[in-house]
This record gives sequence, C-alpha cells and structure tokens, in this order.
Amino acid sequence: MSEMFCFQCQQTAGNSGCVRTGVCGKQPETAHLQDDLVYELIHLALSAEQADNYTQNAGRLIIDGLFTTLTNVNFDNHSIRQFIDRVIAEREKIGSARRPAVELWKGETDIVSLRSTLLFGMKGMAAYAHHAMNLGYDDPKVTKWFFKGLCEIDREHTIEEWLGLIMEFGQVNYRCMELLDHANTDSFGMPVPTRVQTDIKKGPFIVISGHDLKDLHQLLEQTKDKGINIYTHSEMLPAHGYPELKKYPHLAGNFGTAWQSQQKEFEEIPAPVLFTTNCLMPPRPSYRDRVYTTSVVGYDGLRHITADEKGQKDFSALIEQSLELGGYQHDRSMSGINGGHMLTTGFAHNAVLSNADKVIEAIQSGAVKHIFLVGGCDGAHPGRNYYTEFVKQTPMDTLVLTLACGKYRFNDLDLGEINGLPRILDMGQCNDAYSAIKVALALAEVFQCTVNELPLTLVLSWYEQKAVCILLTLLALGVKNIYLGPTLPAFLSEKIVKILVDTYGLQPTTAPEQDMDAILGRG
Ligand code: SF4
Repeated sequence: MSEMFCFQCQQTAGNSGCVRTGVCGKQPETAHLQDDLVYELIHLALSAEQADNYTQNAGRLIIDGLFTTLTNVNFDNHSIRQFIDRVIAEREKIGSARRPAVELWKGETDIVSLRSTLLFGMKGMAAYAHHAMNLGYDDPKVTKWFFKGLCEIDREHTIEEWLGLIMEFGQVNYRCMELLDHANTDSFGMPVPTRVQTDIKKGPFIVISGHDLKDLHQLLEQTKDKGINIYTHSEMLPAHGYPELKKYPHLAGNFGTAWQSQQKEFEEIPAPVLFTTNCLMPPRPSYRDRVYTTSVVGYDGLRHITADEKGQKDFSALIEQSLELGGYQHDRSMSGINGGHMLTTGFAHNAVLSNADKVIEAIQSGAVKHIFLVGGCDGAHPGRNYYTEFVKQTPMDTLVLTLACGKYRFNDLDLGEINGLPRILDMGQCNDAYSAIKVALALAEVFQCTVNELPLTLVLSWYEQKAVCILLTLLALGVKNIYLGPTLPAFLSEKIVKILVDTYGLQPTTAPEQDMDAILGRG
C-alpha cells in the first residue's frame, strides 16, 4: 500500500506519482498534512459559500494555505498543523457547512486529472495573489474565485464542465498576474535592462532566494551602510531590474544558478541564505545553520523570520550571522552553467515595448524572422539540457524572450545583438509571463493579426504549479501550438492530453533540432 500520493510536479517519481517519499524530500506525514490542509481549505470555502460570508481572513488563509502546499515551499509539519488550526478556527467563526465529499486522488481517471489540474493551477495563482497582497494589492474578483474554485473541486462535473471551469480559471489567473505586475511595478518602478555580475565580492554577504520583492526591499534597507552585500539567487535575479531595488549599491550581483543546484552551491557558503518562497530543497547538515525561511516557507529546524502585524520583518539574525561569517576573503569568480559571468535582466513589457519601434522595424525588414519565448521552470530532470541546446540552435535572425528560472540553462550565453537589442531578453520571474502576453498582444495589434499568426513560438519548461497556472492562462487566451517539456504532467490523463493536443495544438517537446525544424518549417 502506498504511504502517500503526490503527482503535482514534474519530478514526480517515474512520471507517475510519489508514493513512498517525495523526490523533493517531502515525507509521507508532510504529504498527508498538506492534503489535510487542502481539505480544510475546501471546507472553509464551502462554509463561506453557505453562509454567504467571504471574510477577508478566510480569503487570506485560502491563498496562503494553498501556497503552503506548493512544491518545495513547506516541509515543516508543526507549522502546517498550526496553519490547519487557524483554518478550522476561521471556519468555526463563519459557521460550519457540510464536510467536503471529494477524495482528491480517487475516482475516474479523467476526472481526477481535471480536478487536479484545477487545484494545481490554483496553488500557482495563490503564490501570485500572496505576493500582490503582501504589497497591499488585492482584487476581490480574484480572491472570490479561490472560494469558487475550491467549492467546485468538491463537486461533480462532466469533462466539458471541468474544461469550462479550467478556462475560466485561466482568465482569472491572467487578472491575478496583472495585479501582481501592478503591485511590483507601482512599488519598485518599471524594470529597466540591467547587467548583473555572477562573481562574488570579498566580505560579508547575504543570499536571498525566491520571489518576494518586498522581503528583498526590507533586507536592502536593513543592511545599507553595514558593509554587507546582497546577492540574489534563482528567481530573485529579475529584482536587479527594478529602479527602487537597483538603487541600492550593495545589491551586488547574483549568486549561483538555478534552484536545483543549491545543495552543491550552498555547501561551503560563508554567508546566510534567506528563502522567501519556493524552491527550498532539504538543506544538508553542512549549511543548514545558515538557511533561514520566512512567510509560508518552512523546514523543521531552520530559523524562521516572521512579520509583525504591519508586515515588517526583522532580519537582524541574518545580518549578525553575515558579519560573523565574514564572506569570502578574496573576490570569488563564479559563473553561469555555460561559463558566462554576466547576466542581463529587466526586459519586462515596458522595456520591450519602449523598444517596440526597433522590434517592429526588425521584423518588417526581415532582420528578425522569428521570436521564441523559451521560459518556465528549471529542474533536475536530465532532459532539461533540451532548453540550452534549443537556444544555442536559434538562428542569428531570431530573438529569444525568456522568463522564470528555466533561463539559467542559457542566460549566460552571449548570443549577440540585433539592431542594438540583445538576442536574449529576460522578461523576469515566472509571473512575468504577463509581460510576454502583453508584448505578444501589442505586436499582434501592430501587425493586425492574432497572437497565433505572429512569428512567435512558446517553448515552455514546467516544474511546479505556477507553471500550471501560466499554461492554463495561455490556453484560456487562445494561444496555440505551445511546446511543453521536458515531460508532460503526470496528472494529465491520456484523454485530457488528447483534448489539449486536438484543441490547442499543445506539443510535447521532442529533440531541439526536430522541434526547431518544425517551428521554422525547415525540411
Ligand atoms: Fe513528488 Fe513533486 Fe509531490 Fe514532491 S511535490 S512529493 S517531488 S510530486
């Protein structure tokens, strides 16, 4: 008999399901607690619906609770239990409804597949809503949909009804990504193209990982004039493009490569590391005394920084440890996976559209024949060098837009420029898929065609549930012929894959040359 069941991410065991222990390190007890939390969140949503009382606290609990169960976020059983208690307390305040009837992972295969697709998409959207709320941005329509989605997960639907719900969700997630884009850009300015060093300067430093720009801002404020440098890690890299963050001279560069290399890259690091969101891997004993978590992130035994009622966090423990450890004695040379020492970021929608004339002229003159959006998550799967090879093979007269941490496969490559524009344009974190959609829609308007008629192909890599919500948004917006890899989600049944292939032209990635030939129509 299996001890747990989880198939929500790309690295799930045997591309089928983790049943003994998670490939991510999640233990059966944690998996059961996360399932219990989801059931309690469904129960809370049902109660709110029945009482027609959608409290602000219930909305926030649903958003943070779903985010807690996202891959590589929280492995701390004690904190999950405490969270469950808070959910139960809020439900009792609202008044209990009937208990959820659904058994998440049981039932007819296609229905389990569709229900899981919606649930996992909602986990991804919860991450974006969480970040937006931390910056004071909220959209009642988005929050209300979390209640609706969880109630619908408890109900029976036909395949067509599930697909309808999933497409409705995709549209709501588009709004949620827009909300987070406003939250980030209103708070920290419109990203501008910025070059980022991968080398580490001598002296004390702190590494900050994850996606939460507010945490980074507070850390920068608390470390200024203290002789401590701050380095971004993984998905925090695009922070360098935001004017209100890049103005701090001690935001010195980017440490390491993508999240899945952390156990090696943190091995002997003479500095503390703060995880603001995913992706946390079980820390090795050699560096666990230097890892801190905050917000919904948790791991038994790691120090956790909490916020006060105003959302302020005190990072003095990290600051003291950074000064004690002292950093490297000499400047340390570090590079990306292809040996490059300089990364460029900050090409979000505003930066690209302010160069719209250049891009349009380049397309009209034939200097740019095709645009690839190669984006999504990175991971440890061996087939992920597909994305490095694919980008290396893009012809000189093509642009590569990218976003999220999948870019660490190629973002240190120097592919040159076209008419002064770098051929690789980093649009930001995974949420900045919103930027890519905005750019695509703007180009479609200029060329008076649909997004599907543009010389544009999306080649996506997925790992966790934020990629799921982005994919569902793209499908809901009618974007077709998306290439998806390195494997198709295990939670998509054969029949559902066929529907996605037939309806949306979804293409599983094959080999870089083969896909490139197919995209460019080369014989
Ligand atoms: Fe397995 Fe992924 Fe679930 Fe972890 S999150 S238990 S690796 S499917």
